[in-house]
Amino acid sequence: MQANTKPPLAGRHAVITGGGRGIGAAVAEALARLGASVSLIGRKAEVLQAEATRLSKEHGAKVATAPVDVTDEAAARKAIATLRDALGPPTIMVNNAGIAASAPFLKSDAALWRKLLDVDLMGAVYCTQAVLPGMLEAGWGRIINIASVAGLTGYPYITAYCAAKHAMIGLTRALAIETARTNVTVNAVCPGYVDTEMTVRTIANITSKTSHSSEEALASLVAHNPQRRLIQPTEIADAVVWLCSDGAASVTGQSIVLAGGELMP
Ligand code: NAP
Repeated sequence: MQANTKPPLAGRHAVITGGGRGIGAAVAEALARLGASVSLIGRKAEVLQAEATRLSKEHGAKVATAPVDVTDEAAARKAIATLRDALGPPTIMVNNAGIAASAPFLKSDAALWRKLLDVDLMGAVYCTQAVLPGMLEAGWGRIINIASVAGLTGYPYITAYCAAKHAMIGLTRALAIETARTNVTVNAVCPGYVDTEMTVRTIANITSKTSHSSEEALASLVAHNPQRRLIQPTEIADAVVWLCSDGAASVTGQSIVLAGGELMP
């Protein structure tokens, strides 16, 4: 009998927002390694292009890029149409682009709330609306929202971020039920603090507003995690890979917590 050497995600086209760095880049690499064609969305063309070149060189992957701000609905839809023309209809959508901001609630003005909700929630809504018809037509799809532990419980000084991530969990749950009979699954991955530039910025923010050193600021973040460490971006990518597998076909509407035991919902 001849061994089946076809990579498990061959023929799949995955779109990853915020795919140029951090968690998104790790997810793109993991999916490309398993044979998927990948499209990277982000605002900085040169960052996306550098990552695309690396992925095609190291994994022989077909990669497309689209420099676009996901809060611009028309531009996001147009970008996804261009990516579809380049690599076929996307059947994996990873809504990862996100921003964080911290401020006491009484100093969180409407502009900050709108910005967080625009990027962390509406960006995912626009991209999902652009790809879902193709998934329904294909009869297979995976929508994976990179939320946060802040989507499942509250933390001080990040009310807008918490609200946006809770909304993303609500979107995940409701859309999972709406698509339950279509072979399209919708799930969220909820990390604790991850070793990326976002956490570096959080540490810088703490040191600028308190008397803490960088080491003390890092220790205060790591203290949230019973394993006392930052999560690695590759760990998020591994969860996404599993959600894309056929073995995860019955997993939908779930929020998968990767936080070393910080939350036990
Ligand atoms: P990161 O290193 O700051 O990367 C964020 C990514 O999002 C970048 O690629 C960025 O690209 C993109 N992005 C931001 N705003 C965008 C916009 N308006 N349009 C298009 N792309 C945009 O952050 P990360 O740590 O990898 O975080 C990725 C996701 O995980 C976020 O949703 C975050 O909330 C979530 N998360 C992170 C942590 C953590 O501790 N790091 C924990 C839990 C959840 P450009 O700047 O080039 O546009």
